[in-house]
Amino acid sequence: MKKLRPPRPELENIAAYDAKDVRADVRLSANENPHNLPGEILDKLADRVRGDIDFNRYPDPMSTHLRTLIAEANGLEPSNVLVGNGGDELILDIVLGWGGPGRVLVDMPPTFSMYGIDARMTGTNVIEVPRLADFSVDGELLMDVVRERDPDIIVVSNPNNPTGTMVPETLLIDLLKATDALVLVDEAYFEFSRQTMRPHMERHHNLVILRTFSKAFSLAGLRAGYLLAHEDVVRELTKVRQPYSVNRFTQAAAALTFRERMVFEAGIREAMRNRDRLLHGLSAITGVEVFPSEANFVLFRVAHASAVWRDLLHDHSVLVRDFSRTPGLEDCLRVTVGSDEEIERFLKAMDEIMAGKRAADHFGMSASATGRVRKAGE
Ligand SMILES: *Cc1c(COP(=O)(O)O)cnc(C)c1O
Repeated sequence: MKKLRPPRPELENIAAYDAKDVRADVRLSANENPHNLPGEILDKLADRVRGDIDFNRYPDPMSTHLRTLIAEANGLEPSNVLVGNGGDELILDIVLGWGGPGRVLVDMPPTFSMYGIDARMTGTNVIEVPRLADFSVDGELLMDVVRERDPDIIVVSNPNNPTGTMVPETLLIDLLKATDALVLVDEAYFEFSRQTMRPHMERHHNLVILRTFSKAFSLAGLRAGYLLAHEDVVRELTKVRQPYSVNRFTQAAAALTFRERMVFEAGIREAMRNRDRLLHGLSAITGVEVFPSEANFVLFRVAHASAVWRDLLHDHSVLVRDFSRTPGLEDCLRVTVGSDEEIERFLKAMDEIMAGKRAADHFGMSASATGRVRKAGE
């Protein structure tokens, strides 16, 4: 019997990103757009598929057409834009380019887990600057770390996934002034927050902005993201990236979507209305603490969050994201802003679950049995 030698020792300390691809009627776990591409874009895409996509040929490595559209929209040159297989690929490219053994990445947990995963995978040291209790960034501590540890990459998710928090622009400007490290401002939720560091690119060549088609633009299934950066940064990243990572179909769909992006405005406004409904609805439920958000998701805290997560899924077929085992997010769940119907179903389910918990508490039942007790109490 042949044995398998172990992989790189770094992998021992890495947990795979667990997207929990669980079946549910109401999927509010991944911050996707609740609606598929609008019909007019689907029709045009169908024409393109029949007409002029050469599936037998390798794709344009640099997504030139899409890149040009993105550059124009942002008042930049195509050389300032890099398109990737989702924003996730571009985060890895940055860590491959600017990280590595002996180099340092700073992030601000609780935050998007891929920064730390990519860093550990590449042997990059990770320094965590923990957020304060309200999930704001500890600016003083961040500046101390920058001075004392001289990091190579600093990553700020803005708004921060999964807390929904924005970093004040003044802090980001101070940070850019204080370091020559590559500062990645992850604006995956820019279309919802409508705040961007783009105006600071000319002055700060170490500023890199990341965006995605996966959230506001209904293309999570196709994998497309882009970054805006100084051309020197883009040039270096092309050395580490996979040349054909963005396929022809994705390039065509993302270009069509980007050109027609005004049609998503109504959906974005609907999402903002529904975010407010979620914030109000959740804060009206006894036992739920809800955090303000600038994105298309809402983080909330509730006792026995994992049991609530399970009740939502098993009794109501509503899937949200369980962060209760993430340090700093004890008893926290994150719900994506879905459609009107989805929000209604989620809030109704939460109402019922929490009423059941209160009844269970009243009768001195254990919280882990809430699901059953609620039914008995009806
Ligand atoms: C969703 C997300 C991304 C990128 O997602 P892709 O689907 O890979 O484009 C990047 N950063 C944050 C914080 C996100 O939430």
